[in-house]
Amino acid sequence: MNIRQKILRIPKGFFRWFSPAELIIPTHVLYLLRSIYPEVNWEKVKFHDGLPWFTSTFSSWTSAIVLPSTFGCSKVNVYFKNFDPDSCAGLSIIVHEGFHVLQYKDIGTKGIGWLRLFIIQYSASCISLGKNCYAKHPMEKQAYTHDALFRKACNASRSPQNTSLKFNEELINAIIKSHPQLIKSTSGFKYDSGWGYLFFSFLLLVIIAILLPTIYLFLLLLCFVLLLASPLLYLFEWILMDK
Ligand SMILES: [Zn+2]
Repeated sequence: MNIRQKILRIPKGFFRWFSPAELIIPTHVLYLLRSIYPEVNWEKVKFHDGLPWFTSTFSSWTSAIVLPSTFGCSKVNVYFKNFDPDSCAGLSIIVHEGFHVLQYKDIGTKGIGWLRLFIIQYSASCISLGKNCYAKHPMEKQAYTHDALFRKACNASRSPQNTSLKFNEELINAIIKSHPQLIKSTSGFKYDSGWGYLFFSFLLLVIIAILLPTIYLFLLLLCFVLLLASPLLYLFEWILMDK
C-alpha cells in the first residue's frame, strides 16, 4: 500500500460503508439469471459487494437484499454480504434475490426513490404479519421454494465425479435442462393483505423516501470532510503506531 492509498484508506472505507461498490458479475451468473428469469430487464439491475449501511447496522443476519435505488426511478439494487458465484450455495442466494427482482417486475418497479409499488407491497405484507414477518412472508416463501429447487438441481449436477467442475454457461445450461421448472416468466405473486396496510406502508415509505437521500447527502458531506482531514488522520495514526 503506497502513501496515497494509506491516506485515502479512512475516507474510502467510510464511503464504501454507506455506498457499497458495484460488482462485476461473472458471465455465467448473468447467463443463469437471464435464462431462468427471461422477462426481467437485467440492464436495470445493479449488483453490489456489501450490504447498505442501514442493513449491516440494524439487520446483521441478512446475507443479501433487493432494494430500490435511493435516487432512481426504475432501477433496482441487489446487495450481497458475501458474493459467491462459484458454489451451489452461493448461486442459490443469487437465484433467491433474482426471484425477488422477478416479483418486483411483476408488481412494478417504477416510482421515485423508495416510493415504488413493490417495496410498498412488501412492507405492507410484512406489517400485516407482525413479529418475525420474514419467515411468514409470502414473497420470501416463493423465493425460498425457488432457490431450494435450484440448489437441488445444482447439487445433483455436481456428482462425486465432477465436483471440481467450474461453473460456466454449459454447466448452467445442463442444470436448467435437468429442472426446466427453474425458468419463470412470472412469479405469480398477488398482494392480499388489504388496503389499510398498503396505505400505512405508503405513509411509512414516504418518510423513508425523504429521510434516506437526506442521510446519504449528509454522509457524503461527512466523507468529504474526512477526505480533507485524511492527511491529518494518517499523520495521527502514524504517530500512534510509531509509539
Ligand atoms: Zn428473500
